[in-house]
Amino acid sequence: MGARESSAMAPPKKVDGDILVKLGQQTLEAISRFTKSIPQQGVWKDVEPGQLAADFAKEPPVEPTEYGQILQKLETTIFPGALSWQHPKFMAYYPSSSSVPAILSETVIASIGSVGLQWKSNPIGTELEVVVMDWVAQFLGIGPAFHHTSGVGGGIIQNTAGEAMLNIMICARTRMHRRLQPDLSWEDAFHQDSSSFVVYISDQAHFSVEKACRLAGLRCRRVAARLEGNFSLQPSDVKEAMEKDRAAGLKPVALVLTYGSTNTSGTDDIAAFKDFAQEDDLWIHVDAAYAGAAWSLDEFKKDSQAVSEVVTSVNMNGSKWFLCGFDSAFLWVRDRQLLLDVFSASGVYMADAGELSIYNPEFKDWSVPLGRRFRALRIWMVFEYFGTSGIRSYIQQAIDQANWLRERIEEEPKGLFEQPVTTKFGLVCVRCPSDEATLGLASRLSELGYGIAPSKICDRDALRIALGSTATTQAHVEQLWKDMLAFVQ
Ligand code: PLP
Repeated sequence: MGARESSAMAPPKKVDGDILVKLGQQTLEAISRFTKSIPQQGVWKDVEPGQLAADFAKEPPVEPTEYGQILQKLETTIFPGALSWQHPKFMAYYPSSSSVPAILSETVIASIGSVGLQWKSNPIGTELEVVVMDWVAQFLGIGPAFHHTSGVGGGIIQNTAGEAMLNIMICARTRMHRRLQPDLSWEDAFHQDSSSFVVYISDQAHFSVEKACRLAGLRCRRVAARLEGNFSLQPSDVKEAMEKDRAAGLKPVALVLTYGSTNTSGTDDIAAFKDFAQEDDLWIHVDAAYAGAAWSLDEFKKDSQAVSEVVTSVNMNGSKWFLCGFDSAFLWVRDRQLLLDVFSASGVYMADAGELSIYNPEFKDWSVPLGRRFRALRIWMVFEYFGTSGIRSYIQQAIDQANWLRERIEEEPKGLFEQPVTTKFGLVCVRCPSDEATLGLASRLSELGYGIAPSKICDRDALRIALGSTATTQAHVEQLWKDMLAFVQ
């Protein structure tokens, strides 16, 4: 048929409500079957790279495929090839918890089909993002200075924590050039030599921080965190590293603190770095991609209070331990101007933005992309559906399950397991007395269908058991403990 499709089979391009309902229902039924089948399978997929792609033609289909066949392929090839992060035995990485409202909101987002270029291109897209970013900040106890309603600070949804970090590092660099040379023109601030600028991070920080520094043209100094407790940065160690750098002619520009490190969920004591912003004029950023969710609980509120008092910016992922699904990387700044100074740009083809205000913050000037997805709708639907009480109880549940497992490990009388670090969120780090036994345990748990990834802590093998999948119940954790004991006894 060449480029022209056969009109008899061609589905209408226009969104047809009746077709949407009919095919939507069939699709939801397929998703429901998939969801119900998840617990019967293991977490990891027993496939080699390329094996799944071999099930697809090398060229795209020229003619339309009947929807029933598409669904069939979904069920026979796509779902079986997709690792389900919602599996009750999924305990790898950190959880990425989706939920019914998060899933359904994606269809609503696509149905609106908005490309949020600016307020005018989808007014509710912008206004709802302002509303939900303030909601989430309030819920976590991040202070009013970071809320949009302050008119000075505010928050924006980014694709990922790594991208948020890159944006922040670029802003920190530009800000420091302006501070050092107040007469610098706006344009020239971007072209300055930054080779003496240094960012300080913990050696436990996520590698995306180092990557962000690299991309922003900044030196990155990894300061060794202390093992005692769970790998925290000591202010005196950071001060010493800065003094050495200053003596060598370098200039400290930023400090990135981690709240919930990826390997062991260690936390830097944010309050202990309060003087750094005052004395050294540093940009202090907190990466709380995973554990920031815990700030919703009273027990951890003192830490978000420290964020409110000490930092310039903070990020937390709604896609990890927060029911909001991927992608929902929240970023808040104390002063939006720091972002606007770097990202403001426009063209004659854009509508007149009008006067900027709380509900018209012109988000295109807060980060790189012009077109932005209507992700705020997902966050709004999740908050409405569960309420803050529901989200809080989900976060508490992962901590309760982890506490239960931590206690069993501590009480185990024969010393069959040890916890190399003291963790306090939903992550439990555990190892056997020998690396060989730890790796043996990892393979046994994998055979039993668990998704638990081995890691290294202080050069020794260890297991990271990350609780927080919505399907994981107390019974699953108790079974896991029995399976661990059965292996070592
Ligand atoms: N920071 C921390 C503490 C993380 O745990 C992770 C991922 O696990 C990241 C940053 C990177 O997250 P993203 O995939 O959103 O870039």
